Amino acid sequence: MTASPKIFVAGHRGMVGSAIVRALGAQGASTLVLRSRAELDLTDQRAVQGFFERERPEQVYLAAARVGGIHANNTYPAEFIYSNLMVQANVIHAAYLTGVRKLLFLGSSCIYPRLAPQPMNEDALLTGPLEPTNEPYAVAKIAGIKMCESYNRQYGTDYRSVMPTNLYGPGDNYHPENSHVVPAMMRRFHEAKRAGAPSVAVWGTGTPRREFLYVDDMALASVHVMNLSTSDWQANTRPMQGLLNVGFGSDVSIAELAHAVARTVGYEGRITFDTSRPDGSPRKLIDSSRLLALGWKPRTPLEEGLALAYADFRAHAEAAPA
Ligand code: GDP
Repeated sequence: MTASPKIFVAGHRGMVGSAIVRALGAQGASTLVLRSRAELDLTDQRAVQGFFERERPEQVYLAAARVGGIHANNTYPAEFIYSNLMVQANVIHAAYLTGVRKLLFLGSSCIYPRLAPQPMNEDALLTGPLEPTNEPYAVAKIAGIKMCESYNRQYGTDYRSVMPTNLYGPGDNYHPENSHVVPAMMRRFHEAKRAGAPSVAVWGTGTPRREFLYVDDMALASVHVMNLSTSDWQANTRPMQGLLNVGFGSDVSIAELAHAVARTVGYEGRITFDTSRPDGSPRKLIDSSRLLALGWKPRTPLEEGLALAYADFRAHAEAAPA
């Protein structure tokens, strides 16, 4: 890495992008190029191309994505596949055309088959059918990984992909319907506590298991992977499988998560399960041993991360239902 590369963080207003900006800021030195959606529409190929030609970043963190929880993925599948394909194709191609050598593409653990052996390692990619509730999103993310691999192979770039497990933390989307499970529960338990409600319903059976990683740990992993030497990266990935998992290392059931969120919020009523809502994948624990061997590890236990996320919710999101 040069002393102070010019870095474009795509999606810097989102939960992950803003955490990457914090992590890069904590390391000092870097010159960041940031654009809000109003300033640069990443689905607009010409605008993206012009931006790269003018700014000439040396590194790109591609954290811009249309994301959402199980309900949003199920309800807006066209938007999820269209936006993600467009954003990543525009950014990756413009990066290549303007000579960006290093790019980090952020994917998701939902790229792995629904019934992949647990914990899922990187070799599980494309070995079986996907979970139907988020298949369009997953197909877009798989296309992003394959674009990076293909550009590396044909053009000699150094574009890497990381697959985070379920993320949560400051800057999350707390929409009651469209969010992921942690922020959704946080809002619901918080509002139930305020209203003195005797019970709170969470979605599904409570039996699916999920692995949760605090977003600042993910951001540190992203910077770590970007800065790995080419030989370290290549030694731990395969030429046409350029991805590394980023997980916490253990999972909890949705019922256990509900109790943990209730404790964080201070809600003491009953927890019920609305089985008319989908469960999604039965389990999504990823194997992060390749990245652990490269010197990164998660720092934030779930209960501590939930407390930090709840403080952020109280400070920024409580009044505004996204
Ligand atoms: P997934 O990991 O891609 O399935 O995405 P989510 O974060 O949306 O959901 C994870 C799990 O949490 C699923 O089994 C949901 O049924 C369950 N869940 C329980 N309550 C909620 C809720 O209020 N919102 C969401 N999004 N999921 C919930």
